[in-house]
Amino acid sequence: MFDTVIIGAGVIGLSIARALAEQTHKSVLVIEKEESYGRGISSRNSEVIHSGIYYDPDSLKAKYCTKGRDLLYDFCKKENVWHNPCGKLVVGRSHQEAELNALYQNGLANGVPDINIIERQDIQKMEPHIEADFALHVECTGIISAHELMTAFYRISQSSDHDYLFKSRVVGANAASNGYILDIENADGEIEQVECSWVINASGLESDLIAQMMGSDFPSLRYSKGCYYKLASQWRNAFNHLIYPLPDKAHGSLGIHLSFDETQTVKLGPSAHWVDGRIEDYHVESSLLDQFYNEGKRYIKGLEKDHLSPDYAGIRPKIWTADNPMPDFYISHETEKGFPGWVNLIGIESPGLTASIAIGNDVANQII
Ligand SMILES: Cc1cc2nc3c(=O)[nH]c(=O)nc-3n(C[C@H](O)[C@H](O)[C@H](O)COP(=O)(O)OP(=O)(O)OC[C@H]3O[C@@H](n4cnc5c(N)ncnc54)[C@H](O)[C@@H]3O)c2cc1C
Repeated sequence: MFDTVIIGAGVIGLSIARALAEQTHKSVLVIEKEESYGRGISSRNSEVIHSGIYYDPDSLKAKYCTKGRDLLYDFCKKENVWHNPCGKLVVGRSHQEAELNALYQNGLANGVPDINIIERQDIQKMEPHIEADFALHVECTGIISAHELMTAFYRISQSSDHDYLFKSRVVGANAASNGYILDIENADGEIEQVECSWVINASGLESDLIAQMMGSDFPSLRYSKGCYYKLASQWRNAFNHLIYPLPDKAHGSLGIHLSFDETQTVKLGPSAHWVDGRIEDYHVESSLLDQFYNEGKRYIKGLEKDHLSPDYAGIRPKIWTADNPMPDFYISHETEKGFPGWVNLIGIESPGLTASIAIGNDVANQII
């Protein structure tokens, strides 16, 4: 019998394990269907530390992003996780001034520090390869190595003697007298059972299916695929800031933006395409080349089509509502639905990486 079982060893499950390790000696088992941690959404994203400018001020996304951002910078410094607080520019043309200003006001409402609107002359000085009339300069945005972050979470969790079951998939769940019994399919296809007082469902793309093992009254996910294209090596070191267009609200994404990683490789993405069914297909279609070129050349001077090549893809776990392409996170201790000790984390799309420490701390506080 374990005190807590965490389903999923992505950045969210690992961060919850980290927080429990820091605050308690209770027994923890992390169950992961892949052969190691961090093989899901957490390894297929933009690795941006978001500021919090985009989200509705009353949302969980705003709360956890702004809190999580500062906690993440502190954690990276303390635990030597690679990061670069490079800042970003959200760029626009003159006809988009009102939209950019609305984003600025939303950032202020969310308490994001050091944001200001700059004009063409300053943009040219900061980013000579960028073409824009106005930009929102956000100083506290940065980039991070998601893998180093997860390795640090895993190390802290392991130092508290937490148990990890890899190549093991949760396939069933039932309430028991003092908690829950989970059915787990191991690597040999055999079913084993584990009993625990608390279940933390942090299973990313399967989080709705795991929740629905206990009943139908939980959100459902729809997958939205995001592809990346990388820029040829001549663009390495060409940019000092991340460059974003204004958000693509219709598709529930931040728009095809420019970012770079610790090797200074520059990439554009992610795009946004609804996936039919629940297929985890990470192929990057070469037919998207024109779309990436057209989006990129809107703000990158001198971009040519043959500078772009397909890179990688990720899948957003979007809570499905017909009228809202920008749904909030669903994070709930399900006592009111009749499941005390069961916590669901569903629809943890962007800014989940940024929010991971803040979410981990809050979930752990409910258990202690
Ligand atoms: C294209 C894209 C770009 C993004 N960019 C950013 C960004 O720049 N900044 C940012 O802050 N956020 C970003 N995000 C969001 C961020 O990546 C996610 O919020 C975060 O990684 C979610 O972590 P997770 O632990 O919930 O999911 P995952 O990393 O997917 O972890 C869930 C784990 O559960 C396991 N699992 C699933 N089902 C089962 C089962 N039945 N039994 C056992 N194990 C199971 C999976 O194998 C997986 O390892 C982006 C997301 C996408 C898709």
